[in-house]
Amino acid sequence: YYNEHTVLWLNGEFVKASEAKMDLYSQSLHYGYSVFEGIRSYKNIHGETKIFKAKEHYERLAESSRLMNMPYTWTVDELIAANYEVLKRNNMQDAYIRPVVFAPANMSFAKNTESFIAIQVWEMQPFLGEKLLRIKTSSYQRPNPKGFNIQAKAGGHYVNSILASQEAKAAGYDEALLTDMNGFIAEGPGANIFFEKEGTLFTPALGNILPGITRATVLELCNELDIPVEEGQYSLEQLKEADTAFFCGTAAEVIGWESIDETKFPGNWNDSISKKIQTAYKDRVTESSQKSKVKSKNSLAS
Ligand code: PMP
Repeated sequence: YYNEHTVLWLNGEFVKASEAKMDLYSQSLHYGYSVFEGIRSYKNIHGETKIFKAKEHYERLAESSRLMNMPYTWTVDELIAANYEVLKRNNMQDAYIRPVVFAPANMSFAKNTESFIAIQVWEMQPFLGEKLLRIKTSSYQRPNPKGFNIQAKAGGHYVNSILASQEAKAAGYDEALLTDMNGFIAEGPGANIFFEKEGTLFTPALGNILPGITRATVLELCNELDIPVEEGQYSLEQLKEADTAFFCGTAAEVIGWESIDETKFPGNWNDSISKKIQTAYKDRVTESSQKSKVKSKNSLAS
């Protein structure tokens, strides 16, 4: 994640990662009482560094803090500016970005305390790789929204993700799919899910899942590309009858599935609308979608 030159932003200052300190009495460490973001920056087609959906991510960080009752004193603009500076000081264009808001000792009980914040950056390939994935239905379900503020991207929620991922990998699969407390398909440990059936995409509705920014981008792309898409509650049986399926998330980007449990998806990935979404997403993050639109217009004309 870091070496002797790495710089991070900690409570308004740029400090060496190897010299940055946090309090071992922090409730974030003991109870998972923290909120965070996973963001990516990309070198765009003009060679500039662009943080993809920076505003949306920093707004979600503020919303996560609010839902967890953590004091939050920063503005979106200030954090985006600090984030660009962290990238610059680490000489990175394509990066994974991790802002984290954490607590001192006893924060949730004492009045007039402040949270801490750090912004870290590191290099990271798509975290589930680039090959079609073999997925296992998890024996773990996503946290019940009656027990957690599930829309918050809170540290403690990720114990559930870790258990699910470890279980799937120990059984020889690439990743887990979790259901919600009613048994409907929900999401992966760190990504949302879409599946494709007869030319339409389907995705679990908001409510029992993290409202993914990539999920929202995929919905945007469907709208732009006239791809029919539906949000709802879907069973594992419905998923297993799909032509193709994919995970989407900032870290994973858009990555197709080969199979779920013993069921192989019959659709040809390269001919699928899922693959079209994967390509459109890559173009969008590098800001080359304008270019490909012009191209497709030209090719239609010719
Ligand atoms: N679900 C979970 C549980 C996640 O951790 C993530 C990654 N943040 C996602 C979905 C996808 O969210 P996003 O597209 O905003 O990265």
